[in-house]
Amino acid sequence: MTPAWQATDDELLVGIEAAQGEINETFAQLVELIGEARSRGLAEAKGYRDLPDLVRSVQNVSRSTARSRVKAAEQLAPRRQVSGEALEPDLPVLAAAVAEGALTPEHVREIQAVLAALPPHLDERRAPLEADLTGHARCLDPDAVRRLGRHALALLDPDGARPREPKPTRNKLTLRSLGEGFEARGFFDRESAAIIRSALSPLTAPCPTVPVQDDCCADGEHAGHEPGERDPRSAAERTADGLVELARRMLATGALGVEAGQAVQVTVTVPLETLVTREGGALIGFGDGTLRAAIDAEAALRLACDARMVPIVLASTGEPLFVGREKRCANRAQRRALAQRDGGCAFPGCDAPPQWCVAHHVRHWAHGGCTDLDNLVLLCSQHHTLIHKGDWVITMEGGFPLFHPPPWVPGGPRRNMLQRPDLVGRIPAQRPPPRVATQLVG
Ligand SMILES: [Zn+2]
Ligand SMILES: [Zn+2]
Repeated sequence: MTPAWQATDDELLVGIEAAQGEINETFAQLVELIGEARSRGLAEAKGYRDLPDLVRSVQNVSRSTARSRVKAAEQLAPRRQVSGEALEPDLPVLAAAVAEGALTPEHVREIQAVLAALPPHLDERRAPLEADLTGHARCLDPDAVRRLGRHALALLDPDGARPREPKPTRNKLTLRSLGEGFEARGFFDRESAAIIRSALSPLTAPCPTVPVQDDCCADGEHAGHEPGERDPRSAAERTADGLVELARRMLATGALGVEAGQAVQVTVTVPLETLVTREGGALIGFGDGTLRAAIDAEAALRLACDARMVPIVLASTGEPLFVGREKRCANRAQRRALAQRDGGCAFPGCDAPPQWCVAHHVRHWAHGGCTDLDNLVLLCSQHHTLIHKGDWVITMEGGFPLFHPPPWVPGGPRRNMLQRPDLVGRIPAQRPPPRVATQLVG
């Protein structure tokens, strides 16, 4: 074969097409082999839990890939009776097209899914539908086949799919590690759902929560986007954020009691270098160490501000340098003074009350910032996150925090007059650009 770099454009395209043909043929072969292994009961014989388990182990593929290969084999490979007599495969037309090498594994998966969704009372439509979809699959890609199949199902069965699995009746919720985070799955009965939705309702309202009128957002953005703009979060995203906020506030009350000998709390284990260089990672976990997940430096710095988290700072040797916050956290008197001075979240346009806020260090304590009133500012969790992203800069001027927006936000430095209407006319709400260049992010 000529190396790819020497091929003409046409040869290249023919080669790409031919390679897919080979994949399809290999798939047909695989279906036959797995089907034969199934007839022989090899999985049980060799001590595997089931056939997908055997395929996964032998082919070193994921469980889901193994399962879909076995599923294809179940319906496409010829079956054998106990007497050894061969029977037609379950889906003979599809099986023939696969054996020809005309279809990809994705085509097979889509067609099998459509046929599986066909309700039992329409069983006599199964064979024509199989033949139809297989015919179209020869020139339609798998996505188009899926759409075509859904369309056909809707026409055949206008009442829609009937529930196949028994509906869950007991509350359940699982958190499964997935990609960069965790996936939640669960079921709640109506009464439980009503309780959860009611508790979440004030926390899931779209921002801006302030009614959008011309005069009301005069002093700047709410929530970091333009006044009057729609909340960019979807309903599902708002629900998720609201649930986290709910748990955060519950933790803050300390009402959750004691677990494993200490108050329920979240710890952040962070190497000193991460705090100082703002590079590297940290671990977040429950106080009792049952769940731990990696977070980046920005999140670690942000969480270390939060009085409701317990930071554990490690030396380069891995030894804990200090645990807890001692003087790194605003005390009660300072919190009271901050609540008086900022009135709540100090971010321009925000109306979150003081009890929802963390006392953020304008200059982070890891960078030598002290826990004094003129280095602290109240921020709600949303704006705390925004500030730690580093685009907005806070300075203290005249004893009050002043927020300097990034270049893409129009308007100059500003304050949150919404929380302190009594100051209107006494201190300037805004200062015209140019903005100061000093970067003081904690
Ligand atoms: Zn902070
Ligand atoms: Zn805020």
